[in-house]
Amino acid sequence: MREFFIANIGKTLDSETLREVAGTSEWARRVRELRNEEGMNIVTHNDRSDLKMGEYILLDLKIKPAFERDISKETRALVLDRNGFTCQMCGAAAGEPHPYDQGRKTRLHIGHIIDKSMGGTDDPSNLRAICSVCNEGASNLTLNRPQAIKLVAQIRRAPTTDQLDVMKWVVQKFPKLAEKMLKELDKE
Ligand SMILES: [Zn+2]
Repeated sequence: MREFFIANIGKTLDSETLREVAGTSEWARRVRELRNEEGMNIVTHNDRSDLKMGEYILLDLKIKPAFERDISKETRALVLDRNGFTCQMCGAAAGEPHPYDQGRKTRLHIGHIIDKSMGGTDDPSNLRAICSVCNEGASNLTLNRPQAIKLVAQIRRAPTTDQLDVMKWVVQKFPKLAEKMLKELDKE
């Protein structure tokens, strides 16, 4: 099965073909093993809206980091439950159509809050739920665009140093407008 996927890298394989290759009705479990235990980059209709149910593609020979495969069922359940089964980046809920790609069901992964390369650990306190779209870095920031009213409320409650940082950023972004507004304020 593994060799067959590797020989057909990038090609869409359907369930009938895979059943034949595996020679067993257990072929679907074998695909899951290749994917979840061996970390092969096999995608399904849950990952890609252009795939039908029962279609699989091995995208490349990249192996998913052992971390996600090693994580215990208990830790996984704990993190997902704590995060309300929603992606902590875009808010998509597990099993529902993804807001960025309606044809795709949201599948949640466990990711690090502080990346391991930055010294983050595998402790549950450093883990969060991330959907496959965000995990691939494909999520669009505009999905998260905060509402102005909430944003202003947050700035109001923020410490002065943070407020000054925001001001500095806004003034840098709109220098001419900032100058004009200052002059108008002077007149008042
Ligand atoms: Zn997401």
